[in-house]
Amino acid sequence: MRAMVLDRPKQPLQLRDVPKPRPGRGQLLVRVSTCAVCRTDLHVVDGELPEPKLPLILGHQIVGRVEEIGGEMWEGPQRPDSRGTEAAPTFAIGDRVGIPWLGWTDGDCPYCRSGRENLCDNARFTGYTIDGGYAEFTVADSRFCFHLPEKYDDVAVAPLLCAGLIGYRSYRKTGDARRLGIYGFGNAAHLIAQIALFEGRDLFAFTRPGDTATQESAKALGAKWAGGSDEMPPEKLDAALIFASVGPLVTAALRALAKGGVVVCGGIHMTDIPSFPYANLWEERVITSVANLTRRDGDEFFDIAPRVPVQTQTESFPLEEANTALDRFRAGKLRATAVLTIAE
Ligand SMILES: [Zn+2]
Ligand SMILES: [Zn+2]
Repeated sequence: MRAMVLDRPKQPLQLRDVPKPRPGRGQLLVRVSTCAVCRTDLHVVDGELPEPKLPLILGHQIVGRVEEIGGEMWEGPQRPDSRGTEAAPTFAIGDRVGIPWLGWTDGDCPYCRSGRENLCDNARFTGYTIDGGYAEFTVADSRFCFHLPEKYDDVAVAPLLCAGLIGYRSYRKTGDARRLGIYGFGNAAHLIAQIALFEGRDLFAFTRPGDTATQESAKALGAKWAGGSDEMPPEKLDAALIFASVGPLVTAALRALAKGGVVVCGGIHMTDIPSFPYANLWEERVITSVANLTRRDGDEFFDIAPRVPVQTQTESFPLEEANTALDRFRAGKLRATAVLTIAE
């Protein structure tokens, strides 16, 4: 099969003919239709995340169709995080399937046993520690896969699998914050803002200073206020979400918080956070981060997304132009979420 392979960080991906993977027990062999490009892919290519599998096939926002099922399906309750008793989804040959970042957990460590499988000690991650979707085929453990809302086609649904899903987990960490700020108004922000507005939050959008085009698009979406990340909002915020990998935004967001407010860092990698006066944290302000996702996050997100309905904006690239997509992403030159289109 054709695949774009990362041999070593800081090198372009190589288009290569590699053996088609074979599904083990409970795994699906999936013919990949689309795979959206995530900022995490860039962090892996740029050597900013430790110890990726090498050589590696990137990509963890995968949409495809089940081609083959390895052995028997898992049976019984397999989703300890999903309300305790929910059975894993079952798939048949030909079904459409979504494959996310969380590829496998042991189900047995203290984190898994306490409903926090996103923190599993032995978790494996799609397109990072196991091969992902920048290829014609991939295999995935069926217990971690999702059925996708029919409302979306294969291109439109792909960005929901990470920007949407982990964005949603970040958003839920803001509790019932009424005044919600979002720093870094890119793809994840665009998706989560739609849910926040649907749920009646007041939205404050922070962009790179001077990026009036993004500020206008945030206002068009329904933001109450939009401005540069160096500005203070007209009201104090009950919560701030940070989707840019820029550490100084944490202290900026902290200054904008009301008492008891929370700053949620939604990314896997960030530059260093500058020091700040304790007074900015006092009065029960909180800084936290979000790591990975649980399957329950996915179930909840794919329930709410089509009801909003969350709209995605995409820009398609053929598989062999993955390097172009990554380069444009790094340079801030994408107009929307890049989606690799693989099968017809
Ligand atoms: Zn575990
Ligand atoms: Zn991602």
